[in-house]
Amino acid sequence: MELIRQLDTATLAFVTGLAGLLLAGTMVGIRLAGMRNPALRYWALAGLAAAVGHLLAHWALTFHVAMPRVGSLALANAMVTIVHVSLLAGVRAFLGKPPRWLLLAPLALLTASAGYVAPEAWADMRVRIVVLGFLYLVLDAIAAVLLWRSGSARGERFQFVAASAFGFNAVVLAVRIAHALWRHTPDATFAHEPFQTLVFVLGLVFIAVLTVGLALLMFRDRELELRRLVHRDPLTGLFNRRSLFEHAAREQARCERYGAPLSLIMLDIDAFKSVNDTYGHGAGDDVICETAARVALGLRDVDAAFRLGGEEFLILLPSTGLDDAVAVAERLRQSVSDTPMAPIGRTVTASFGVTELARGHEDWERAMRRADTALYRAKDEGRDRVFAMSAPCNTAPADAVLDVP
Ligand code: GH3
Ligand code: MG
Ligand code: MG
Repeated sequence: MELIRQLDTATLAFVTGLAGLLLAGTMVGIRLAGMRNPALRYWALAGLAAAVGHLLAHWALTFHVAMPRVGSLALANAMVTIVHVSLLAGVRAFLGKPPRWLLLAPLALLTASAGYVAPEAWADMRVRIVVLGFLYLVLDAIAAVLLWRSGSARGERFQFVAASAFGFNAVVLAVRIAHALWRHTPDATFAHEPFQTLVFVLGLVFIAVLTVGLALLMFRDRELELRRLVHRDPLTGLFNRRSLFEHAAREQARCERYGAPLSLIMLDIDAFKSVNDTYGHGAGDDVICETAARVALGLRDVDAAFRLGGEEFLILLPSTGLDDAVAVAERLRQSVSDTPMAPIGRTVTASFGVTELARGHEDWERAMRRADTALYRAKDEGRDRVFAMSAPCNTAPADAVLDVP
């Protein structure tokens, strides 16, 4: 408490202004480093507004500048409103939602003009704290909830730092409102009063933690994007061939450890050249995408689908024996061929090769070749069908094949 008493509000305003500049500078720096996230613009603006508001306040306090009261209040309130509005607009932009900028921008104008519309009521510090505090509390609480919810949904712990900063500030604002309503209220924002000073210190902590939290969000987002680019096929969003062997080795080791089976499905769209020739390469790409989406929809969370290239896909089915894998392939075959593909308005079919890995760490390439052989048997036998081959060293006889239908 003694520390709080010693702190001087003019100096605090100056330091908070610098913190605002640091927030803006960090966001600009991240953008210059090559990230093009639209949220950066809003967060930089928030930092800039915090800097302008607090540095002007510091200047006025230090040099005892006599500013017209209504005008300086309007400017200060507009700046603080821009801070909270831009922070929320940035959070929405970060989550891929439209920032609703046009809806939120008038709030800054409204808070700025309140002193002109109702000068007597607005001159009362208590009214300003309650009205503006409540507005900022709502904006910060929305930002906290949006980030927290999307963080939980994506299993992303990194969003919790920024979410907690917003939540923390919302709580500080709530306490400030309660204090203003039930306790003594200083008659000026920068009054040298311990509670008021504490609010300033907590505001500074908010901007500092937020700067770290938002920078973390950006770098984490870029890291996930890069990982996605490395492991995913850009056309379909499925895993790519590059990630197959790493994925397969991990699943094989896991299934071996638990004594569980592991099966493979390889599929290839039938007569795809004619789709390209008739409807064009672009429509062909769209058919590949729709096929991938139908396949992905028919799988469990633990299964993994890969685009091997062209119109050929591979599916890994952990804890699934050959018979069950055949049933899955048959279901996928129907989901591909049952309804017309939207991009071309007609149905396409696909052929499926299924196999199960032999126990005892069968060579992965060998299992892939067997799935490939099964797929070409399905093609040979007339396409639009599932053909299965069991592993040679499993209990089933080496030449046992299941042919469906
Ligand atoms: P089959 O029933 O024997 O599989 O006949 P098919 O016509 O599908 O023959 P194949 O699998 O050999 O041909 C695949 C064609 O797919 C050849 C190639 O021009 C085309 N293709 C490969 N990659 C892409 C791609 O990314 N987009 C599009 N639109 N076409 C592709
Ligand atoms: Mg094909
Ligand atoms: Mg092919």
